[in-house]
Amino acid sequence: MARIAVGGFQHETNTFSAVPATFTDFEAPDAWPGLTRGAAMFEAVAGINLPAAGFVQEARSLHYELVPLAWCSAQPSGRVTRDAFERIAAMLVDDLRACGNLDAVYLDLHGAMVAEHVDDADGELLRRVRAVVGAGVPVVASLDFHANLSSEMACCATALVSYRTYPHVDMAECGARAARVLHDILRGAQVASYLEKIDYLIPLTSQSTLVDPLHSVMREVEAAERAPVLSLGIVPGFPAADVAECGPSVYGCGSDAFHLATTVRQLAAELRQREGEFALELHTIEHAIAAIRRAAPAPGRPIILADTQDNPGAGGHADTMSLIKALVACDARSVLAGVICDPGAASRAHAEGEGAQVELSLGARTGTPGETPLAARFKVIALGDGRFTGTGPFYRGARFELGPMALLELGGVRIAVASRKQQAADQAMFRHLRAEPADHAVLVLKSSVHFRADFGAIAGRILVVEAPGPNIADPAKLPFRKLRPGMRTSPQRR
Ligand SMILES: [Zn+2]
Repeated sequence: MARIAVGGFQHETNTFSAVPATFTDFEAPDAWPGLTRGAAMFEAVAGINLPAAGFVQEARSLHYELVPLAWCSAQPSGRVTRDAFERIAAMLVDDLRACGNLDAVYLDLHGAMVAEHVDDADGELLRRVRAVVGAGVPVVASLDFHANLSSEMACCATALVSYRTYPHVDMAECGARAARVLHDILRGAQVASYLEKIDYLIPLTSQSTLVDPLHSVMREVEAAERAPVLSLGIVPGFPAADVAECGPSVYGCGSDAFHLATTVRQLAAELRQREGEFALELHTIEHAIAAIRRAAPAPGRPIILADTQDNPGAGGHADTMSLIKALVACDARSVLAGVICDPGAASRAHAEGEGAQVELSLGARTGTPGETPLAARFKVIALGDGRFTGTGPFYRGARFELGPMALLELGGVRIAVASRKQQAADQAMFRHLRAEPADHAVLVLKSSVHFRADFGAIAGRILVVEAPGPNIADPAKLPFRKLRPGMRTSPQRR
């Protein structure tokens, strides 16, 4: 029975955020498990929509012996500290050395990790892993749809397999695909890889695979991934990363180098040809408020305002209050907003109890320029311990640990508050506080695209709002210094 070492180290780095990801951040659980090492790792990820979970399940069904390394992730943020990267990389490498004879390695990576001292941190990790196992042992990694795929990653890995969806409803399935690719390689498939970079950045909110252009393009990718192609992917990249590797890529690997190059080049040509379709559509706060007033939404089919620039799933802090303040100021009714990260406010609400009135300065804790807290007297509607399981297609099976939570009310606006930040991409985050999203007329969600997986079906309309926050929605507004020459910072309409 062939032996495969299994590990994971995931981070999506917004290099424009000043808040680093520390070792402690990787240790802490959030929606996903905290750092686990050794045998406990398989148990920790089991049943969750995560690549490692899908890989383990599929590889076991193919009768491989799996050897656990470490697995961890941290919320998207600024650069991973040197300390965190070196300690976690050392765990993976040391455990790999201690494994004895191995037939293959699988790693669950993001592909857009930047460390304080290494811009292409995933490439560096793969390089170190390759150095330990040598040229003859296959190394397969799965990558997020937002990977900024580098030639170092493509060279050091035998094969890369990436998500096909945004919202990422196929993370576990991607891990299972990686297991099948590795299975083919272990049965003797020869592998060449081919990478082509695209020369314009795609804003996050234009990357959803629920709508075109990526809806149709990803179907073409899926159809083209067949023998002799082992793995084929388009990764639109994570644009808030000032590194040379930043940007979309088309990658494939397979046994027929000519066929592979032709297939990858065709997809790259299509992305170039459809550039204008990726152009950004954003609404100001004023426009969003005017749209709500015009539409007079009622409970049942809420208007969703995506507060994308403060999305903690892309490096936001989940505490900017400008959009919520504007809704309070215009006396909007039947509004449900969240999830605001403010441990002090959650703790005060717990101390006072359900039904109490409490004076709070809510939010704006991390100093986003121009942001001030929402200071008011709130009613505590509901309390929760922040422990619940994800039920939507994206956070399926995730065992949330968000610390003390509270639902606060001010006029017609209810605000879900947590003690740890987490992207508002699952209705369970509100139901934990006895709030049913569909019963509201307006939802304000700290999310860019992932919310569409669970909230899309109840939405009357979705507006992406450009409210304050560190996750700048329009890459053209970011002060890049290190992009490749010729890279356009936003898609151009022709
Ligand atoms: Zn992603």
